Amino acid sequence: MKLVVRVRLLPTPEQAAALEATLHAVNAAANLVSAVAFDRRCFRTYDLRKHTYHRIKADHGLAAQAAQHVIKKVADAYRTLHANLKAGNLGAPGSKRRTRAESKPVTFRPDAAQPYDDRCLSWQMRERTVSIWTIRGRLKNVAFTGSPQQLTTVAACRRGESDLVHRDGGWYLYATCEVGDVPVSEPDGFLGVDLGIANIATTAGTATAGDGVRYSGKGLNAVRRRNRELRRRLQAKRTKSARRLLKKRRRKETRFAADVNHSIAKQIVTEATRTGRGIALEDLQGIRDRVRLRKPQRVTLHSWSFHQLGSFIAYKARRAGVAVVHVDPAYTSQECSACGHIDRANRPGQKTFLCMLCGFAEHADVNAARNIAARGVAGWAVSHAA
Ligand SMILES: [Zn+2]
Repeated sequence: MKLVVRVRLLPTPEQAAALEATLHAVNAAANLVSAVAFDRRCFRTYDLRKHTYHRIKADHGLAAQAAQHVIKKVADAYRTLHANLKAGNLGAPGSKRRTRAESKPVTFRPDAAQPYDDRCLSWQMRERTVSIWTIRGRLKNVAFTGSPQQLTTVAACRRGESDLVHRDGGWYLYATCEVGDVPVSEPDGFLGVDLGIANIATTAGTATAGDGVRYSGKGLNAVRRRNRELRRRLQAKRTKSARRLLKKRRRKETRFAADVNHSIAKQIVTEATRTGRGIALEDLQGIRDRVRLRKPQRVTLHSWSFHQLGSFIAYKARRAGVAVVHVDPAYTSQECSACGHIDRANRPGQKTFLCMLCGFAEHADVNAARNIAARGVAGWAVSHAA
């Protein structure tokens, strides 16, 4: 499977200045190529190369490989845009959003990421340095760092291109790595994962051994609440600096949420590995029905976050050879995990589950996770019956 490993570059101030000048140059060139593509309605790499290759090399001081990458980057951006238009992701034909997207060329930020192949970037793993092309000449001995695992993966499995990324003052290389598939081991039971808001995730096995673990959403929800209030205040101001601050906050919140999701996914997969179990996840197709909140944008926000956590878990599980089953989440919150009785009255409160039939009591999220685990066992048995 393919995965992307991020290592942090530690450039000297001089090297950083050369990297920054390079990103500015390649993205200025990308904007020029994009304008040509838009004006001529020609979006294929081959055609764009004919019209722009010599010009961007001469005008922006790009090396041959860098110019090729710029052109490919623009062609890829239009392919993505056209796929999104076709899929209706930018609204129906004639809608405001869609018209805006169609009426001007794709633009690139001055510090947008730039792909590098082995001819413009070479790695010296033992010295932990790279040599990288810039518009100020080739930079040698640019130091980098990463976790031991990241470094081992890059050393053993890096294939093809890496992206140079400048984010929040830091410099990074996102290296594409190709690692061998780990065979899925036969699960000894399942760990059910219930997704929620007060608790981002709750895990439990099928046995009523009290092994429910809740991953609290307190920290994340507090950040979201603070940002919501700030947004309200700043939106009233309508100034440019307020808009900038809002954008910065939004990106920071997205990153924080992703970090939290990564960390939870890692803990869940580690727990499944340790106990030899598979992981049962809710099939998120119907998530909108489950998250019944007052404000529609919150549904979008949380469903996005649920999907991210689900995909992080599935991805990490695959790397660890842990079986994953997606189950139907209907009534998991109302069903008694001890006797199977389904009743809305089994949920007297947000946090409590109390079975009207057998009297079984448990934290509501743990009960739901236990139901999901049981459905995981059943789902695995069905799909592996032959
Ligand atoms: Zn019961």
